[in-house]
Amino acid sequence: MMAAPFFDVQKVRKDFPILSQTMSGHPLVYLDNAATTQKPRQVIERMDHFLRHENANIHRGVYRLSEDATRFCDQARSKVREFLNASKDSEIIFVRGATEAINLVAAGFGRKLLKNGDEIIISAMEHHANIVPWQALCQEKGLVLRVIPVNDRGELDLETFEKLLGPRTYLVAITHVSNALGTVNPVKEIIKMAHHAGACVLIDGAQSAPHQKVDVQEMDCDFYCFSGHKIYGPTGIGVLYGKEKHLLAMDPYQYGGDMIETVSFEKTTYALPPHKFEAGTPAIAEIIGLGEAVDYLKAIGFAAIHQQEKELLDYATKKLLQIPGLKIIGTAAEKESLISFVFDQIHPHDMGTVLGEFGIAVRAGHHCAMPLMKRFQVPATTRASFAFYNTKVEVDVLAAAVLRATELFK
Ligand code: PLP
Repeated sequence: MMAAPFFDVQKVRKDFPILSQTMSGHPLVYLDNAATTQKPRQVIERMDHFLRHENANIHRGVYRLSEDATRFCDQARSKVREFLNASKDSEIIFVRGATEAINLVAAGFGRKLLKNGDEIIISAMEHHANIVPWQALCQEKGLVLRVIPVNDRGELDLETFEKLLGPRTYLVAITHVSNALGTVNPVKEIIKMAHHAGACVLIDGAQSAPHQKVDVQEMDCDFYCFSGHKIYGPTGIGVLYGKEKHLLAMDPYQYGGDMIETVSFEKTTYALPPHKFEAGTPAIAEIIGLGEAVDYLKAIGFAAIHQQEKELLDYATKKLLQIPGLKIIGTAAEKESLISFVFDQIHPHDMGTVLGEFGIAVRAGHHCAMPLMKRFQVPATTRASFAFYNTKVEVDVLAAAVLRATELFK
């Protein structure tokens, strides 16, 4: 057996300035990582340095600052290509986040290529970002939206999926990891089944990119997307990966500067991907910050991240289940490091508010997955989501505070 990689969590925590703060008079216990992750000083300092000393617009300048800024953005694109193991830099498109990536595919791919009566398959555990763009497209173009159900543990029903796949299925859009349940979906199998039926596949990687090594070539997905702010990078920047053949066939998403080859009043021709999809001045400092976040994750390594987060998940599951009346929603065999829980007599918002007063940041609500909440017949859940910088001591603090809250609400 291979020795487990050594992971010095206290050393890693020193990289994240916010983690040594207090909230409501208590040491901050940040367990809302599925909503957004904290930023290491490497990312903060890189962006600060760029804005203080290196800021210029990219592509257009013939002076040194602009050439350097352009090069930094190109380097960030290469880092992301390596991060996802895409085959070409041109398959990496910078967007605002996972939401914009999915909207881009709905507009550039869906609107152009799908025809009345074509079918799109999503699942019952999707984030609204991977439901609403498809629903709107279906209404606009007369398409049919089909939904893979989930079982009581929160796993996809693949037998039903097989039956839903048909000759008119054009696209399957599935989350890799559920933000509300933690379920890790068997995306390789899903992609194989979809391709066998002649359909393309978009994987929403918003909750997988922070936790596991993604290899888009091995996965063989047609599209994959994630948000920078969930992988320890800045907000306002994210990535869409697309196979080159699709990107070439798609329409642009937005129109304007930087995405053209030539413009005249009679006719405009478009640049090749990725620029075809990147109209206007991009989020330059954020792109560079994202590149730094990717470097940071690479230095820590997904083997260490996985081990630390799995230990936290197992420990927290055990601790929380000892609390009378606590029920975990989402008990799939394959889970990432988050726990959604409910009590019959306590509203999740009340629980979240009390935990906040103990300095614990968790999320309470429908997690932008209203159909999933309906499936489990709960209005909302309280969700604790862990990152590699969290500790077992923080899990103990969480469990003690949840227990205390149950006593307060008696
Ligand atoms: N998809 C999933 C599974 C998510 O968890 C989220 C955000 O929580 C999104 C998509 C949307 O990400 P963003 O708001 O960064 O665009």
